Amino acid sequence: MSDNFFAELDSELWDAKITPSSEEAQPVHSNPAAHAPVKKPLPAGPIKPQLKPTTPMNPSMSRPVHNGQKNLVPKRPLMTGKPVLTNRPLKRLELPPEKSIVTPESTPAEVPTSLSPAVIKSLNVPVIFPKSAEPQILPKADHNVTRMIPIGGLRTVGANMTMFEHGDDILIVDGGLEFARGGNSPGFNYLLPDIRFLQPHIKRIKAMFITHGHLDHIGALKNLVPALGFPPIYGAPFTIAMIKKGFEEAGLKNKVQFFTINPDAGKMANIGVFKYEFFRVNHSIPDSCGVYIETPSARIMHMGDYKVEFFPRIDKPADLPNYARIASRGIDILLQETTNSSRLEWTTSETKVTGELKQIIMDARERVIVGNFSTLISRIQDVVTIAQELGRTVLINGRSMVDCVAIAREMGYIKCKEGVIKALDKKTMESIPENKQIIITTGAQGEEFGGLNNISRGDHATISIKPSDTIVLSSSIIPGNELAIAEMMNRLNRFGSKIITIKELEVHSGGHGGIVEQRVMMNLINPKYIVPVHGDLSQRLTLKREAVKMWWDPKNVLIIEDGSIVEIDERHELVFSRKKIPLEALGVDGMSIGSLETRAIKERIQLGEEGVLIVNTKDATVESRGLFFPDEITASHSAIADYAKKAVSAKKPEDNHKNFCDFLAKDLSKMVLKVWEREPLVVCI
Ligand SMILES: [Zn+2]
Repeated sequence: MSDNFFAELDSELWDAKITPSSEEAQPVHSNPAAHAPVKKPLPAGPIKPQLKPTTPMNPSMSRPVHNGQKNLVPKRPLMTGKPVLTNRPLKRLELPPEKSIVTPESTPAEVPTSLSPAVIKSLNVPVIFPKSAEPQILPKADHNVTRMIPIGGLRTVGANMTMFEHGDDILIVDGGLEFARGGNSPGFNYLLPDIRFLQPHIKRIKAMFITHGHLDHIGALKNLVPALGFPPIYGAPFTIAMIKKGFEEAGLKNKVQFFTINPDAGKMANIGVFKYEFFRVNHSIPDSCGVYIETPSARIMHMGDYKVEFFPRIDKPADLPNYARIASRGIDILLQETTNSSRLEWTTSETKVTGELKQIIMDARERVIVGNFSTLISRIQDVVTIAQELGRTVLINGRSMVDCVAIAREMGYIKCKEGVIKALDKKTMESIPENKQIIITTGAQGEEFGGLNNISRGDHATISIKPSDTIVLSSSIIPGNELAIAEMMNRLNRFGSKIITIKELEVHSGGHGGIVEQRVMMNLINPKYIVPVHGDLSQRLTLKREAVKMWWDPKNVLIIEDGSIVEIDERHELVFSRKKIPLEALGVDGMSIGSLETRAIKERIQLGEEGVLIVNTKDATVESRGLFFPDEITASHSAIADYAKKAVSAKKPEDNHKNFCDFLAKDLSKMVLKVWEREPLVVCI
């Protein structure tokens, strides 16, 4: 790999938009110390795992299944006489890189032994407590059975979390949040997986494995980890850095032991009864991983979030031979993400996006504003590299963007000359000509308090949009954000500036592979069972249909729910239990955690949609909020007061006051519905 890879590539992009050939695209990483390829002499007779040859389609044939035997993927020598690239390190699978698999933190944490009041007081986040008189709802597994239970990630998009259990040991993969978007979760900051059933078992939890640093995989950890007994957390370097940032704010940083895994180690390690191996995948945040988990009864491959990208900007190209090497152990269950299952095309190459961005910025007369995800470090690096070439300065806007850029620069994932990136403040902005500025900002999803949304509303302290600005939304639409983004776009369009989105040009490459990439992975890994995850029912069913078309027996592609219990017995055969762990949707509201199924939430929804009517039974006075329009308030209140007076005068001294109030509230609800056809929350006091 050339040290000047970016410079070389960028100069090529400068001259023309190119599509590099596979020979030109080398593994690239910005952290040479951690990720430099190990140079080896060319092997005399290199052995590579090969894909199974395609068998002609025959609907009458069922897909061959295996029984967990090893070495199912046939190996054959490379063709002799094939030209070998001298600058690309060839892999010898029998000689894994000499790197440590896992590194504990240099300073051991002071892990609390219990969730004492003093510990709770030291935290800046609400933690989950067990339900009162919680029964033992996790039934004991049979001897030598491996159990998998999805705790989150199968109801909607987000809150990804799965547990694996064998014997006395439990392993958890991911602990993500789900974004609350009003609707049935009014007032909540975010939603959490319901881990309360695990609380009687916290001493059995050996570790939490984290696949990558997106919030739907790490965002709930600060709320869950204390309730789970502060288990050690394993992840790749950038993932651990992102978790630590959140834990620092939550008062948790030194209460958890972190282990940094090396996703390039190419070896298995042990924890409890589990053998495991993290492996690198391509996604939209550095150091994304999948994880292989092995027990005496099951071999499981959890892909995390991934796409198959051969021309990444700062990560390494997709390593299909490595996936095949792991799969050659004979995979029983593949957990396959489905976020983009409905997308038919192969994900746009990141290098192509780089070319588009460069052209746009070159064409821009004045200031450029790029809306981006704060964790999409490769895109930030792109903008920084382009700015450096064009003599522009990158100004960072949005708290999460500032934090992520700081972490990525410190770890060497973003590289640039001194002074190319600057904090965004009024004085700095005024000191740089507008045609030399690129502002990179959060809020491309129309988030309520996101940077770009603030700018679109004219609420930003420093940035006001001008017609001469070029705005690039270098992002996709996360499902559920369509309306917020459309409203933001309308506001931005009023300023008359040029706006470019993925509808106009390929200015974004998503992190989730489409169905084509998922087909490749299913074929390559060839698992006995497939569990579609990370998606709602429609997305998961799309993947199932695809797998069935690829000859998987429909019974072997499991559409399960959060709380479903999947068991693999010692013959590596699946036993699907009808028993289900009852899970509720939990949410964080300020410093509290509550269930979305409580009366309080139903009342919030009713209040939000219909308003509230309050009647004081002492003097039959009436108040309302959000119920009547100004010109009908006086007459409406008067009619309701008259109705209430009659009821109050008929009240007997021996009547229970609370019962009377409840009765009157029901009566008034019927009256308001009948007269005004509205259903407010009615409160009688
Ligand atoms: Zn992700």
